[in-house]
Amino acid sequence: MRVINFNPGPASLPLPALERARDELLDFQGSGMSVMEHSHRSLEYMAVHEATLSLMARLLEVPPTHQILFMAGSASHQFAQVPMNFLPSGASADYLMTGVWSEKAFDEAKYYGAPRMAASMVGPDKRYTRIPRQDELRLDPKAAYVHLTSNNTIFGTQWHDFPEVGSVPLVADMSSDFLWRKFDVRPFRFIYAGAQKNLGPSGVTVVIADKDYLASGRKDIPKIFRYSTHAENNSLYNTPPSFAVYLVRNVLEWIDSVGGLPRLEQWNREKAALLYGAVDRHPDFYRAPVERESRSVMNAVFQLPTEALEAAFVADAKQQGMVGLKGHRTAGGIRVSMYNAVSVENVRTLVAFMDHFVKTRG
Ligand code: PMP
Repeated sequence: MRVINFNPGPASLPLPALERARDELLDFQGSGMSVMEHSHRSLEYMAVHEATLSLMARLLEVPPTHQILFMAGSASHQFAQVPMNFLPSGASADYLMTGVWSEKAFDEAKYYGAPRMAASMVGPDKRYTRIPRQDELRLDPKAAYVHLTSNNTIFGTQWHDFPEVGSVPLVADMSSDFLWRKFDVRPFRFIYAGAQKNLGPSGVTVVIADKDYLASGRKDIPKIFRYSTHAENNSLYNTPPSFAVYLVRNVLEWIDSVGGLPRLEQWNREKAALLYGAVDRHPDFYRAPVERESRSVMNAVFQLPTEALEAAFVADAKQQGMVGLKGHRTAGGIRVSMYNAVSVENVRTLVAFMDHFVKTRG
């Protein structure tokens, strides 16, 4: 029996994508072996690799100026690799600080240059409860790039409109809201997203970047860390995380089969409206710290009046087949992650539970 999985990542994956992997696991397309046993240069794997690239390009309408890369490793690797490639020694880059993951990205940049906080939304207790407004950004027109975290997985805030940064390259960590909807790729010079929330299993990180920007990266760093190496070799310079890419392919085909990103956006907005609706019906019981305009469609966070009630909430939900609701260990409270594979029906079930929980324990 599968549970309703509100995990923050690794997270729920669409059942058809998993079933397909199960059916193909031992014998991939009559080849007598699993896709993960194939050479990454085999016709079989190459077809998967290309299909994943072209499906993503089509679903997202990636412009011809940009290239998609599959990088082994996680978003945390990108925190370091971005400044390694794009921050000249001692130069400055602007970081928009909206949560723990922005802080981690910022800290890695210090090894290469002088990152600057061009906005910091940190509040009391090191918590973040909103996204900065455009007029709060103190951007340096000479910065090497501007870095932002599009969705703050831990604090439940999200950029709903991206900032205007002039001619400075815009770099975004989209790990926890990539492909929740269609968005305009063109204003971004560089996007990265770990797969394990909306897209697939951990182990692969997707990069979408301007081709000229990729080529412009530093050449005085080891070849394997240069984005240009991976761009020139179509992400096949070294052995890619082939099984993870294969699963991303399955997830993308599922997205395509249900109606593409417009349909996912409709579902994701419906889920968020249902969930925040329940929170707002009982504001004295479900206390949402995030300002309304900054609320994340992907991760909703709230606190209950006591930690004991929060523990009971998590335990009771688990008994009813709903898991993954405990807040991040540093933030406490409850966190509901509603990535693409969590259905509207799943959220309805949780909302009914929330209404009932207030009645019986509130
Ligand atoms: N960025 C964001 C927005 C994240 O949510 C996470 C992980 N939850 C990371 C980066 C780091 O991902 P990883 O642990 O795969 O390096």
